[in-house]
Amino acid sequence: MRTNVKHFINGDWVESTGTDTIDVINPATEEVIGKISSGTEEDLNKAVVAAKAVLPSFSETTKEERIDMLKAIASEYEKRKDELVEVITEELGSPVTMSEKVHYQMGYNHFTHVAKALKSFVFEENRGNHIIRKETIGVSGLITPWNFPTNQVSTKIASAIAAGSPVVLKPASRTPFAAMILAEVIQKAGIPKGAFNLVNGTGSIIGNRISTHPDIDFVSFTGSGKVGEKIMKNSAKTIKKVALELGGKSPLIVLDDADVNEAAKTAISHIMMNTGQVCSAATRAIIPVTMKNDFEEAIKHTLPSFKYGDPKKTDVKTGPVVSKEQWETVQSYIKKGIDEGATLLVGGLGKPKGMETGYFVKPTVFTDVSNDMVIAQEEIFGPVLSIIAYNDLEEALNIANDTVYGLAGYVVGKNKDTLSYVANKIKAGQITVNNGKIDFMAPFGGYKQSGIGREWGDFGIEEFLEIKAILGMSS
Ligand code: NAP
Ligand code: MG
Repeated sequence: MRTNVKHFINGDWVESTGTDTIDVINPATEEVIGKISSGTEEDLNKAVVAAKAVLPSFSETTKEERIDMLKAIASEYEKRKDELVEVITEELGSPVTMSEKVHYQMGYNHFTHVAKALKSFVFEENRGNHIIRKETIGVSGLITPWNFPTNQVSTKIASAIAAGSPVVLKPASRTPFAAMILAEVIQKAGIPKGAFNLVNGTGSIIGNRISTHPDIDFVSFTGSGKVGEKIMKNSAKTIKKVALELGGKSPLIVLDDADVNEAAKTAISHIMMNTGQVCSAATRAIIPVTMKNDFEEAIKHTLPSFKYGDPKKTDVKTGPVVSKEQWETVQSYIKKGIDEGATLLVGGLGKPKGMETGYFVKPTVFTDVSNDMVIAQEEIFGPVLSIIAYNDLEEALNIANDTVYGLAGYVVGKNKDTLSYVANKIKAGQITVNNGKIDFMAPFGGYKQSGIGREWGDFGIEEFLEIKAILGMSS
């Protein structure tokens, strides 16, 4: 059992002031793998006091000192690789190969890339008749979701440390143990006491208090739009800055000169990766009507190459969804798609044969979807794809942008001018052309209801800073 009912406050693991606990469940086995504390407001207040106390000294550390801290964290993190991979597999249900190659690695990359971004980051600059200084925003509250237990947490922590901002983190209560290993990593790396604090508990108690606490100056949140809205409302009372990363319904536009098999592979990889629990996943494949039959055949042909099942097996690429609630949500959307009259191409309701234990979902692809259907408008967060056909490029772009979201967009095809035209026209924060590689220096974040602000690299550091103009002096 991984039980640890303590919080990490002011450099030490401390008992909670309450006695309530939360069970953490392995979604592949439905078994309890450990307990954490369901923290109290008093626990959170203690962590804020610690963060506030270290703020004056931590915010004045030099760039070099912060780079050293980030490097020390990366090096301690590497030492915990096997354990992190195991924990992510257990608490998220992520297949072990993905836990290593995606989750473990993303967590590591944020520390090393932010260290690199920090090296060339300009905190003070002379602009003729004034000086611009970028200063630590203050104490930051971090609230993270369960879908990327290391990535979501480490992008925020790395940026905060780079900016000299002490933090209080509340990780998702479904996947807290990877974050707790990170706390041990940070402790080992010798980060000043109070600069990093972790308080476990529910969103309604700890998360809510983070967004209302008068001594927290900035809240960086990743999760659902519903909770994002609450955080904005709560933060308004003390005019706290908020950064929100809130998911999407991203389009994949397939051009008429694209290789149909490659395009199908791209579409399938998006819904199978992390069992579709990816905020930036392409969940609407927008394809030329002339390609429809071939694309559907290619989808049916490609799907079996993504093996799903027991996350402990190294050849498995897709595991269960994270929880019973998430399983039920995904089922309700599959039912909705059927009721709305979309054509079920593969998958459907219920658990896959032989996978009755665990929150396994049948990878499901709907075709003949029209963009006004609920399955094309709402974020499902499971392995469900909608195929939508278009007649001409302008129609494809209208469909792509007809959404309240704007986190990411994807385009595949051959003609360079058309690729570039489409990349410029999709209203979203990150566009990927022909499966371009992930870049940890590129900003990540959304237009419209996908959020406010950017994470990763130098743009991530900016979020944890205030801008000051000094007039009448030059440096
Ligand atoms: P969520 O409810 O928004 O939770 C995200 C985080 O916020 C968790 O740490 C959660 O705590 C906390 N929280 C919950 N209520 C809160 C409140 N009133 N005030 C402050 N913090 C609060 O997201 P979820 O339950 O994990 O997933 C639900 C849906 O959100 C998904 O189906 C998906 O559509 C979306 N989602 C998006 C992303 C993304 O990357 N953009 C990631 C995950 C989920 P506890 O859960 O521990 O109580
Ligand atoms: Mg929730």
